[in-house]
Amino acid sequence: MKKKLLVDLDYVICHPGFLKLVNDFCGTNYEENDFTEYIIDDVIGPQEKINEFYEFYLTQDGYKDAILIEGAKETLKKLSSIYDIYLCSACVMFGAERRSAKLFKDKFEYLMREFEFLDPEKIIFTNSKNIFVADVQIDDRLPNLLGPVKTKLLFEAYHNKNISDEELQENNVKRVKSWKEIEDLLLN
Ligand SMILES: [Mg+2]
Repeated sequence: MKKKLLVDLDYVICHPGFLKLVNDFCGTNYEENDFTEYIIDDVIGPQEKINEFYEFYLTQDGYKDAILIEGAKETLKKLSSIYDIYLCSACVMFGAERRSAKLFKDKFEYLMREFEFLDPEKIIFTNSKNIFVADVQIDDRLPNLLGPVKTKLLFEAYHNKNISDEELQENNVKRVKSWKEIEDLLLN
């Protein structure tokens, strides 16, 4: 029986188009590394403007301009020979929770378009990612890694650079910075 690998999408496999759409909407040039927190809505403006942004966002496909992270696809494909890969991604948008249906659709279509080796029956869309039992989990948000998984890997991203080694150690989480590192850990 293959081992189970839970893997996140956003900021682990790809950079989604969210920030580009924020920039398009606001006429700004922000880059991911301008931020240290996951939620960046504050830069859009007051709540009214944030609501307007989400109206705009819901007319766009946030995955049209998604950028694959180097090595993600190749390494996942190799891992698929020894792991059952469960793609586990949040689709309910913070701030527009009940209007998130389009994000489920856009994300699913992106996954089907880009990853022919992923099993559509092993795609999990939930914001409650810490409830699963698996052998390995890769995610960029620490709260998602606090469930009963044996090997927990925090993929380095703009918003998690300040999490201390001590905090990671306390939670039995190892930081990884690239898919090369993941390949070395899980395939060798
Ligand atoms: Mg993520």
